[in-house]
Amino acid sequence: MIDHVEAALSSIVGAGHVLVAPDVRASYETDWTGRFHGTARCVVRPASTTEVAEVLRVCAAHAANVVVQGGNTGLVGGAVPSQGEVVLSTTRLRWIGDVDPIAAQVTVGAGVPLSAVQQHVRRLGLDVAVDLAPRDSATVGGLVATNAGGERVLRYGTMRRSVAGLSVVFADGTVASRLSGLPKDNTGYDLVGLLTGSEGTLGVITEVRLQLVPVLRSRTVALLALSGVTDALSAMAVIKSRVSILEAAELFFADGLALVCDRLGLPRPVPGGHEAYLLVETADREDASAPLFAALGNIPAEIVVAEDPVARQRLWRYREAHAEAISAVGIPIKLDVVVPLAALTEFVAQVPSLVTKACSAARTVIFGHLNEGNLHVNVLGAGGAEPAVESAVLEYVAALGGSISGEHGIGRAKAAYLSLSRTKEEITAMRAIKRALDPTGLLNPGVLLPPG
Ligand SMILES: Cc1cc2nc3c(=O)[nH]c(=O)nc-3n(C[C@H](O)[C@H](O)[C@H](O)COP(=O)(O)OP(=O)(O)OC[C@H]3O[C@@H](n4cnc5c(N)ncnc54)[C@H](O)[C@@H]3O)c2cc1C
Repeated sequence: MIDHVEAALSSIVGAGHVLVAPDVRASYETDWTGRFHGTARCVVRPASTTEVAEVLRVCAAHAANVVVQGGNTGLVGGAVPSQGEVVLSTTRLRWIGDVDPIAAQVTVGAGVPLSAVQQHVRRLGLDVAVDLAPRDSATVGGLVATNAGGERVLRYGTMRRSVAGLSVVFADGTVASRLSGLPKDNTGYDLVGLLTGSEGTLGVITEVRLQLVPVLRSRTVALLALSGVTDALSAMAVIKSRVSILEAAELFFADGLALVCDRLGLPRPVPGGHEAYLLVETADREDASAPLFAALGNIPAEIVVAEDPVARQRLWRYREAHAEAISAVGIPIKLDVVVPLAALTEFVAQVPSLVTKACSAARTVIFGHLNEGNLHVNVLGAGGAEPAVESAVLEYVAALGGSISGEHGIGRAKAAYLSLSRTKEEITAMRAIKRALDPTGLLNPGVLLPPG
């Protein structure tokens, strides 16, 4: 049934872009993991900043709460509705501006998938610093809203470092734009920085000016089979001390590898029963291999090396396919924690037993970004025991001095645990910012900030 809100939205974006039928809404109502879902009042797909502003004005006037959705690859339930919200999909904000080769910047619509920008700018010798497995679906706006990390944080930092500017529409329809991309600009509060990582709770990002990096075509990947986390940390330390062009250092374990090989029908990359695997990648304009080979000569490990793109991709597949292989088994609890490197070995040893104590049937699969101590703790088979498992792991992380989210954000999944990582005073300040920019709580209710 079309009511007056949907009619008003149709008059802005066209009836074809207000989705009301349950079967066409369905893919917008469930997240990538299948764990978070709800019913949307409707899905609206504006195609410009002006349309986003008009849509938000209509929603505000009718007190119709809004959930912002980009590529819907987020892993903390922040982009799907829970209680009949309007889903504002950014996927029609899909344009790429001219590249400024001197500043190495480009302005794009927030709904452009990461891989489309990568393809566009690589032709011009430039690259997007952040890269991650769902690059064909994850949107630039989503990457900014979650301050995404990914596989190259070691070299380039998180998404925050790549955001040279943005346009945002606040809950009342006001548009604020800061797209000049000036390398120095010390004129007050950093609104661009504030919006980065705000998970759709402060405004809808509609345009992003990206700071690009040079494309590095010479690449070498090595997969090291090791006996455990301590050896992986030592190997990474040796490589980092000798190689200045290191771009990635990813960790996974025998159980995750077995799952990937079984589910995807892949051969084991190395024979033998190794416990931990470290995948490293170097990149440079020319010859990314020589310094890596010199460093690897000092590390006692079984090592496979890949230099051509197909062989490199084959090795990366063992790491990147973890999430899909885990999801093929069941709906996991996904915890994305950061642990101080000094406590990493203890954490990896203790977490599976902490999890089984909370739920005896549960199984833990861990992988992640070793350099930052950012581990993805995936728990399968814990249906019904989610709160017990989550608190056991997240309280342990907090006790070790870590963070309850390295890159996925807080979303709905971890809002109740925010106080494990942020102080009361910080949360009070965050609430004040939310109230100032979105006084009625129109945008992404229940996301990031705990109720209260
Ligand atoms: C297989 C797999 C691997 C992944 N690997 C990584 C990884 O290595 N590193 C990493 O950081 N993440 C990873 N992710 C998580 C996810 O891809 C990122 O969080 C990504 O940034 C989400 O982008 P999206 O466009 O899909 O956003 P969505 O999922 O649509 O939204 C995510 C959040 O951002 C908000 N949002 C989206 N667009 C906007 C906008 N334009 N304005 C305001 N708010 C907005 C949403 O409301 C929601 O709160 C992975 C996910 C999958 C499925």
